Amino acid sequence: MAAAIIDGKAIAQDIRTELKKEIEKLKANGVTPGLAVILVGDDQASHTYVRNKDKACAEVGIHSEIYRYPADLSEEVLLQKVAELNEDPAIHGILVQLPLPAHLSEDKVIDAISPEKDVDGFHPVNVGKMAIGKEAFYSCTPYGIIKMLERENISLEGKHVVVVGRSNIVGKPAALLSLKESATVTVCHSKTKDLSAFTRQADVVIAAVGKAKFLKKDDFKPGAIIIDVGMNRDENGKLCGDVDFESAKETAAAITPVPGGVGPMTITMLLYNTVQSAKQKAQQAVK
Ligand code: NDP
Repeated sequence: MAAAIIDGKAIAQDIRTELKKEIEKLKANGVTPGLAVILVGDDQASHTYVRNKDKACAEVGIHSEIYRYPADLSEEVLLQKVAELNEDPAIHGILVQLPLPAHLSEDKVIDAISPEKDVDGFHPVNVGKMAIGKEAFYSCTPYGIIKMLERENISLEGKHVVVVGRSNIVGKPAALLSLKESATVTVCHSKTKDLSAFTRQADVVIAAVGKAKFLKKDDFKPGAIIIDVGMNRDENGKLCGDVDFESAKETAAAITPVPGGVGPMTITMLLYNTVQSAKQKAQQAVK
């Protein structure tokens, strides 16, 4: 039987509609959620991402501020800006678009963001809280996967989730969040021997490798759920995932397409985290 196609775009849209309502309520109580984005240099992909984030904020009613700096920005000025935004009561979320130019330390800059405003979920405090199963800001892409599965009524409890990839922004947090959902988790990476032996055992595969159509039908057991995080270009320059969608969908129970799967969830969870941050601030003000 052909797989169910998980429509990330529709799920993301539903969540954004819900957020819009929550934001209206917050505004009626005098709180406008605010997101500040810092962009350094002229990486074209980063500029596109930031424009998309700005547009998504406007659509749901989040106030957004973008700070664009030239590539030769000093670390001192950047850290000063972060410190200023940490203190700004109109700002509930701070995001520094990565990658940064090589002379700037990403670790130092992320560490400087107040964990309470780290809506990207990259600060070690938030990562640590996630690791011990506490509430925190979770990294947007893996959190989007969890939300997406929740909306599809797919429980991870007791399932064997195999995550392919161990990056700090996708693979590792996807593994930790799956564990939090009581899955049995295996993490694979470039040094894994006989990768297919692991993925073929999986009830759920989360592919975050960054290689076009890397996993094929035979790498999955029939009836598996396949979550494809990859955003790659195929031989014709067309956007594609880490999974060979056409073959894998023949035997999978459910699969996310690329585009239209995990991608739309990522910015949505950034909006979601920003709204949560504004709500937390509003609650603190009441106390
Ligand atoms: P990274 O390059 O940081 O990580 C890739 C991971 O894949 C690494 O852990 C690497 O292992 C592993 N890997 C590489 N080759 C192999 C192999 N042959 N076998 C097994 N594992 C392998 O990428 P990201 O995690 O940042 O992103 C992964 C993909 O997801 C990319 O296509 C990216 O564009 C996409 N992406 C999509 C997002 C979305 O919103 N949809 C958001 C973020 C990313 P090792 O650690 O050993 O090197």
